[in-house]
Amino acid sequence: MKLTFLGVSSALSVGYKNFHSNMLVESADTDQKLLIDCGGDVRHSLYELGFSAADIDAVYISHLHADHVGGLEWLAFSKFFVEQNKLPLYISTDQKQALWDHVLSGGMSTLEESNSTLETFFKLRSTESNKFIWSGRDFELIKVPHSYSNHELLPSYGLFVSGSKLNIFITTDTRFAPDVLNEAYERADIIFHDCETSSHFSKQHAHYTQLVTLPFHIKQKMWLYDYNDVSLPDAVSDGFKGFVTRGQVFDF
Ligand SMILES: [Zn+2]
Repeated sequence: MKLTFLGVSSALSVGYKNFHSNMLVESADTDQKLLIDCGGDVRHSLYELGFSAADIDAVYISHLHADHVGGLEWLAFSKFFVEQNKLPLYISTDQKQALWDHVLSGGMSTLEESNSTLETFFKLRSTESNKFIWSGRDFELIKVPHSYSNHELLPSYGLFVSGSKLNIFITTDTRFAPDVLNEAYERADIIFHDCETSSHFSKQHAHYTQLVTLPFHIKQKMWLYDYNDVSLPDAVSDGFKGFVTRGQVFDF
């Protein structure tokens, strides 16, 4: 299995070509490609690495922020109108309806002779019990604390993936919450962690100054991404594997 970072930057970054933190998982066994989140930058981040919509065989959505779903209309329309196909979609059961009602329906309810639904454009894949199998590998949805709306925690799910060589944990967007995430931290061979680096704390993302307090053995298997367009601290000397760079590839 191969994990490629199409982008590594935060939702608000622009101009550095670091792009939204979306990734591509490729299976050596099946030659299939699974897109992990599909933000507004994805057309460009795919293009920069030589990919197009035609290369994407399925998509996983962690949560409904635009840097994770803003490119879905483009991708699904490309599949539907160009390839005459529906895009296989993995998303937690508690976000399916909101994805259509609050994100996609405005732009995609535009078929002249029929009403559209999520199923019009996507093949909805089961994520019952927060698990799915893709290309023969186990994917586990890990609920992470990211955003609240009027005191109510909104759904957001990272991924724990059992690779052929290593188990990886991709947090996607999460607050600093070692009490919630420690079990996955301990189980994983490699952790890819959301890491805010701006001087302003958004509270919705784990900040570098918080992550640096984690135990050494956890930091030793942790790569950092989703950072801001600022000069980055020396993560390696602080015990981390480092900051992921756009286009970086990991075998697992
Ligand atoms: Zn987010």
